[in-house]
Amino acid sequence: MKKASLLFFLCCILLGLNAFAGNPVFLKTNNDPTNNTTNHKDTVKADLSKAIAVNDSLLKYPAYDVYTDFDTSVIHVVEKMDWANFKDSIHILLNDPEYCGYVHPFKGNVTSGFGFRHGQPHLGMDVKLEIGDSVHAAFEGKVRIAKKNKSYGNVVIIRHANGLETYYAHLSKLLVEAGQDVDAGTIIGLGGNTGHSFGSHLHFEVRYKGMPIDPNDVVNFAEFKLKEDTLVITKKTFEYWTKRSTYGSGNNGSYLVKTNGAKGKPAYVRYYNIRKGDTLGSIAKRYGTTVTMLCRMNGIKTTSNLPVGKKLKVG
Ligand SMILES: [Zn+2]
Repeated sequence: MKKASLLFFLCCILLGLNAFAGNPVFLKTNNDPTNNTTNHKDTVKADLSKAIAVNDSLLKYPAYDVYTDFDTSVIHVVEKMDWANFKDSIHILLNDPEYCGYVHPFKGNVTSGFGFRHGQPHLGMDVKLEIGDSVHAAFEGKVRIAKKNKSYGNVVIIRHANGLETYYAHLSKLLVEAGQDVDAGTIIGLGGNTGHSFGSHLHFEVRYKGMPIDPNDVVNFAEFKLKEDTLVITKKTFEYWTKRSTYGSGNNGSYLVKTNGAKGKPAYVRYYNIRKGDTLGSIAKRYGTTVTMLCRMNGIKTTSNLPVGKKLKVG
């Protein structure tokens, strides 16, 4: 009996110590970290001892109040949020003078926009560049990832004080390393064509708690500047994801059609079926093109009707 109560006492001490060691994890987050589930196949469960070590010093990391971890090995952050039922709004200051505002990563033309293509998600913006062009950090922050990845190629991911993370993929050369602090405008790598990429370009993503945000919501890619001073995240921001099943091929999303690939003609043309409420402006934005280009590709005028269900060439 004596032995049993001693054992019980020791267990209490151990549990108490454990809770104490783990305490900062719970103090610094409004999410229950035990709720985290994994959606991405390249995500592995972090080692608990490492997680505690990181969380003990999380105050040193940007947006420590938003994230439960600063993982320098796993590409995507996994912070489970029920965005479909999210009723609140999160205001993200983009041009905080304390953090030197915004610098456009690379001033080039957008060649592909954010959205679903042929049922496949394209969760960033593609910006044309040449191999060796300098790529700049969009905001001040701390590099979380700087390494080679199968699909992203050489990729840099920066966490910012405002809670956003920005991704810079397909680089030919990495010029920063994980844990390094960067300013808005720091050259973080050189443009390239690494990973799952056909032709040199920058694949740029903006994410919040691991969820991709349409970069068009943040940046005006035609003028290389911020769209607004503040980004307001609501459940609408992630509606594209909850509605993704409707974007498949043969449905209302865009789809590729093989052409005869005659000289100078692309082997595939991308079409989109016009939906109720669409405007040329909204379609152009979704596919990273302009109203003028849409009109030219389809031989229509800016004032033309957009009959629901009619297919429109979008790229
Ligand atoms: Zn891309």
